[in-house]
Amino acid sequence: MKNHFDSLRFCPICGSPELLPNGKSCKQCNRCSYRTFDNPVVAVGAFIFSPSKKILLTRRAIEPGFGMLSLPGGFAEAGESLETALRRETSEETGISLTGLHYLTSAPNSYNEGGIPRAVCDVFFTAHTTTETVLLQESEASEWLWLSLPEVRLEEIAFPTVRLAFACLKENFSSICP
Ligand SMILES: [Zn+2]
Repeated sequence: MKNHFDSLRFCPICGSPELLPNGKSCKQCNRCSYRTFDNPVVAVGAFIFSPSKKILLTRRAIEPGFGMLSLPGGFAEAGESLETALRRETSEETGISLTGLHYLTSAPNSYNEGGIPRAVCDVFFTAHTTTETVLLQESEASEWLWLSLPEVRLEEIAFPTVRLAFACLKENFSSICP
């Protein structure tokens, strides 16, 4: 299936139908010279630890991954740092405030945007919170769970990039949660 970048045919600035390939991962408009690149959008996710070292997971209420587990997070918006995006998404979804954000790992991903795959870079952080009280629900989640790391079964995790991040977390757990 064509991805988002391959599907772009018209210049988004002047509307010219001559938006032509210009080297690898670039297209250029023949009329106004506008150039666009096959860059990913950025999504953030967090392993949020409670004071008892439990991790906050969401059980998904929608496809893809219906009934499976994932992490709080979402897409960064223009003008945000990744940390700001993560604080906003977590607050919107759960009412939880984060402290001590640290980069963990990242992985390339793809997001289905209106039937067309769009390149994404998933960036994962670890963070802490002082409460296990989840104040808000969102339509994407049927429930929120606090699980210790050994209680998390990778086959229950909805997305391959989140499974990769879990593997990275397991490797580094003793330094993250001493
Ligand atoms: Zn143009």
